Amino acid sequence: MGYNFSAGPATIYSEVLTQIHNDFLDYKGIGYSIIEASHRTSFYDKIHNDAIEQFKTLLKLGDDYHVVLLGGGATLQYAMLAYNFLSEGQVAQYINSGYWATAAIQNAKKTVKNDKNIEVVWDGSSNNFTRLPQEKELVIHEKSAYLHLTSNETIGGIQWKQFPNFGKVNVVADMCSDILSRTIDANAFSLIYAGTQKNLGISGVTVIAIKNSFLEKANNHLPDYLSYKKQVEKNSLLNTPPVFSVWVFERVLNHIIQLGGIEALDILNAKKADLIYQYLQECNGFYNSPIDFRYRSNMNVVFTLPSVELQNAFLVAAENANLTGLKGHRSVGGCRASIYNAMPIEGVEVLIEFMKHFKNTH
Ligand code: PMP
Repeated sequence: MGYNFSAGPATIYSEVLTQIHNDFLDYKGIGYSIIEASHRTSFYDKIHNDAIEQFKTLLKLGDDYHVVLLGGGATLQYAMLAYNFLSEGQVAQYINSGYWATAAIQNAKKTVKNDKNIEVVWDGSSNNFTRLPQEKELVIHEKSAYLHLTSNETIGGIQWKQFPNFGKVNVVADMCSDILSRTIDANAFSLIYAGTQKNLGISGVTVIAIKNSFLEKANNHLPDYLSYKKQVEKNSLLNTPPVFSVWVFERVLNHIIQLGGIEALDILNAKKADLIYQYLQECNGFYNSPIDFRYRSNMNVVFTLPSVELQNAFLVAAENANLTGLKGHRSVGGCRASIYNAMPIEGVEVLIEFMKHFKNTH
């Protein structure tokens, strides 16, 4: 039995995979596969609306939120955000916590005439993205179009544990890699977006929750697909949705509800992360986390070994032991264990045993 620690696409609940497998050729007795069905059929409609409703239920979003399902990944959201909410002359503020926050900033800059309209209020590059800002380090303007943050840096392995009080500004969060993994006050955000390929299913869908009062400010003069207002008006059925990805997303949400919702996942995810970080503390520096302990991610555990040679040997030995996906991102190197919702605690235990064995034999 192996475990896949890939950062995304990532491990999916085996129960969900089995269900998809069983229902794939003949969806609930309709005589054909759901991926052959029109997105205008009643059975697809139910999947689509159930996904939206379950997502709202799990995040405890109020009636003043709309949920939109789009293609294009989180990468498209970088541009859509600015196109929708940044009018000429306005400033949007961004917190730069690492690789993905940088991508959000760079893409937003490409949508405006003047780079000054994208203000970086805090930049972690000077400390190599090993910590996050304290509330007192941030000067947030209530008048800015929005404040953007990345709740979990998938590559850097750094995560906001508590969100500061940002005042009245509309807070927008890229939650790609920790969505539905822990209890948060989702209603404190004006917009949350996340691709589904880590905690929520497979690639192909990006889920976006938008507060109505924020949506009202959105630009009315955009091509249909790029307009949040148009997507809300059409219930994300403006064009052909990624039917298969939405189905998997809906099944994962349904499974999470059966597991006890976010509260249950929060406890389990903290336990998994504690186990591995505890071991990093105990291993006398053989494995080392560069991240300030206050911000270590419960989703992506990054670590290095004493030399590149040992690191490469570790990765080869891990693959041979059927522990895959542990190579760090090409931009930073090192190792990374992604332990999203669907990674069972046994997977983390097996990984730690493997790390102990490797250390003892090297
Ligand atoms: N933001 C974060 C935090 C991510 O982890 C990723 C993908 N790993 C992205 C954005 C980009 O997402 P996508 O590939 O779906 O465009």
